[in-house]
Amino acid sequence: MSKIHNFSAGPAILPQEVIQSCADAILNFAGTNLSLIEVSHRSKEYVAVMDEARSLVKRIMKLDDSYEVVYLQGGASTQFLMTVMNLLETKAAYTNTGTWAKKAIKEAKAFGTVDVLGSSEDQNFNFIPKDYTITEEYDYFHCTSNNTICGTQMQSFPDCPTSLVCDMSSDIFSRQLNFTQFDLIYAGAQKNMGPAGTTLVVIKKNILGKVSRYIPTMLDYNTHISKDSMFNTPSVFAVYGCLQTLKWIDKQGLQHIEKANTEKADLLYNEIDNNPLFEGTAAIEDRSKMNITFVLKDDSRNDDFLNACADANISGIKGHRSVGGFRASMYNALGLDSVQVLVNVIKNFK
Ligand SMILES: *Cc1c(COP(=O)(O)O)cnc(C)c1O
Repeated sequence: MSKIHNFSAGPAILPQEVIQSCADAILNFAGTNLSLIEVSHRSKEYVAVMDEARSLVKRIMKLDDSYEVVYLQGGASTQFLMTVMNLLETKAAYTNTGTWAKKAIKEAKAFGTVDVLGSSEDQNFNFIPKDYTITEEYDYFHCTSNNTICGTQMQSFPDCPTSLVCDMSSDIFSRQLNFTQFDLIYAGAQKNMGPAGTTLVVIKKNILGKVSRYIPTMLDYNTHISKDSMFNTPSVFAVYGCLQTLKWIDKQGLQHIEKANTEKADLLYNEIDNNPLFEGTAAIEDRSKMNITFVLKDDSRNDDFLNACADANISGIKGHRSVGGFRASMYNALGLDSVQVLVNVIKNFK
């Protein structure tokens, strides 16, 4: 079987050793002679999985006990409304940097006043707006660190005198950040940290308890925090997969991971910039290292390029259906060798 170079945007590539550990646990979980997917989530073996999956996040992010970590269901899309229900009393600020940000804004508008402080919508979301000031009058400020579909990424975060809330679904654990600047981080697991089916939420505890509305039990962060993310049955398999990825990340450290991601991105952007047939679609200073979007100047040849990619065992390179073109998603587990294969296909495309 020849190796497939997996550039899928999500669910996405995972380290081979993570997939192997998941396969092993499906057959025999933690020496129980039972499958991971047929044991109680209250068993001591599984409680240990959840505990470690929560504590490793804090360790990798260098967060103290003023933060809580939970694994929820409903995807990052449910966080679009859960953040709002738990944090929005009167007024919130958002940036509109892509499809996902727009969906988050839509949910917030149903519960209060929303000011969109910066938007790149009229330029097809090809840059990150930076020219705005956040004031204390807002209950929180929400941003999307990496715009998976349009290929832009925040290289830094604004000064924020209110709670800073960030959708990190597609670049979580891809680089070193001062994570203490955030008050709430959420990320669907399936892009850069595990199988689909769970969503990581990191919360600074003191931002909760400030809204007057009734929050339905399952949508209240405190419900899940108070039960160590075991209020109801968690996605046992997905959290197990996240734990394996977190161990893989912890072993290398974010500094090393960031360096590898930079090297991969530089290799591909360099080829796109120097090749007369192709061009990148995102503003250079805002380019994502995770999702690299580009087009053929002559788009009548798109199918030829996709065929050339397929011939080289490259999978998942087609751009999102809403924007077209091509997108190379290069999450942590993708190797430099796979990027080199793509670069060679681009180079040889006539
Ligand atoms: C994929 C994605 C989402 C949606 O995630 P689901 O888990 O499918 O709900 C939200 N935000 C960003 C930035 C994403 O990349």
